[in-house]
Amino acid sequence: MNESQSIFSCAANGCPLMGTVKTATNGEVDWFCPCHFNRQPGHNDAVTVVLNRHRHIAGAIRDIREFYGTDEWANVFRGIQKALREAERADMTISDHEPVRAWLSRLEKALSDLTRECGKQQRIRSTLPTAQVIGPTHAAAYFGEVA
Ligand SMILES: [Zn+2]
Repeated sequence: MNESQSIFSCAANGCPLMGTVKTATNGEVDWFCPCHFNRQPGHNDAVTVVLNRHRHIAGAIRDIREFYGTDEWANVFRGIQKALREAERADMTISDHEPVRAWLSRLEKALSDLTRECGKQQRIRSTLPTAQVIGPTHAAAYFGEVA
């Protein structure tokens, strides 16, 4: 696994994925991963934290994109399966007869789902349930003993 950022890396700082979707604004082109693409810049770090928390899936995606179809693929493939099982994500290993491209899409969708809500303000209900009030129901008269 290549842990370092390279020219193939997503343009978001610290992102473990490859940049596979490009933006062209002001003549400059940045390549982003599907999870960072079209995000407000202020949300990038929150997305990166989630991607790094699920590094075993992100690493699998990166390795598939980098090594599928190369001579190293057989070894890399075994390494991905092993890493996912060790991370207790056997559900993310390749299924029987699942094409590699479909597996890659499934992994990318999993990360996309995990990062969808990143950086978004969660709505707070206007009527919050509160506990029943216990204790005195009225205040004693001020300096009551004097009167
Ligand atoms: Zn990214």
